[in-house]
Amino acid sequence: MTDSRDSGERLIDPFGRSIEYLRLSVTDRCNLRCFYCIPKGFKGFEQPEHWLNFAEIERVVRAFSELGVRKVRLTGGEPLVRKGLDQLARAITALPGMDDLSLSTNAVLLEPHADRLRAAGVSRINVSLDSLRADRFQAITGGPLQPVLDGLAHARRAGFSPIKINMVAMAGINDDEFEDMVAFCLDNGFTLRLIETMPMGSSGDAASRHYLDLQTVKRRLAKRYELIPGVMPGGGPARYMQVKGTPLRIGFITPISQHFCETCNRVRLSVDGTLYLCLGQNDRLELRPLLRGGISDDGLKQAIVEAIARKPEKHTFRENPRRMIRLMTMTGG
Ligand code: SAM
Repeated sequence: MTDSRDSGERLIDPFGRSIEYLRLSVTDRCNLRCFYCIPKGFKGFEQPEHWLNFAEIERVVRAFSELGVRKVRLTGGEPLVRKGLDQLARAITALPGMDDLSLSTNAVLLEPHADRLRAAGVSRINVSLDSLRADRFQAITGGPLQPVLDGLAHARRAGFSPIKINMVAMAGINDDEFEDMVAFCLDNGFTLRLIETMPMGSSGDAASRHYLDLQTVKRRLAKRYELIPGVMPGGGPARYMQVKGTPLRIGFITPISQHFCETCNRVRLSVDGTLYLCLGQNDRLELRPLLRGGISDDGLKQAIVEAIARKPEKHTFRENPRRMIRLMTMTGG
């Protein structure tokens, strides 16, 4: 197989979507326990011998980069609990053609890691933050709020840009806090993204119980702020509105009320080497046996091309919410 950057080879799925984005879960473990994400007492984490090591991950990312993927996000689980993440980040940014490495984190460990990750080439970060009230944050996540706020302050100083706050919008949990979060993001120069709960895995019922249609939230915010259509580079599935007269952009991620599968450009690699072709479907390719079985670089790329030919058209969270798809933390949310 020739180098795709010379041959112009691209990953195009059967629905004409160009796959340009890899979300890379470096661990399924997390130092928080958000009730809508990891079920209480969950013990089903991957065994360390099944984790792809950094050389294996780099090999897969290289194959993707040679197939036209330019954009990678480190995620999990909580990616900062995987030791040596900055080394992996450095190896990925050094790959030819790779021009965008970002991180999704809960920011609990961001303060000690931010400078090294920034120096390793991570440019943009998304931070999960569902509440600004310490007691409520503790109730949702099982952990303290202050390290997250410290991590965010440090991330600003370290020069990440943009910094996006991901807030899962939940009826009866944090639906009285959107205006506070808007003010917090305005004060700090962050972008705000509101996310609808998705019925993922056995915690999916807990998530669905608090489902909130973001179309109603948008209407509510529009009464208070003058919202004009906004754009955001690397905005992904969010539909952005800008608060007029300010730099603040608010993204609405609406997998349930208005899904965005027709523009899906991504696949996900889990820590055990499973390539998931859709967040909400089980279609997959097991890469670990191929990597450990001595597959050639060309063979690896061919397997990825064949997998992309099986990418499902869309998730069915709305039509079939009781179907148990794996947890978000196992997939790389
Ligand atoms: N630990 C990192 C973080 O906090 O961003 C990355 C992984 S975490 C699984 C990614 C995102 O998925 C978080 O923003 C989390 O709130 C969201 N998430 C987890 N389960 C969800 C669900 N059932 N519905 C909607 N969002 C969910």
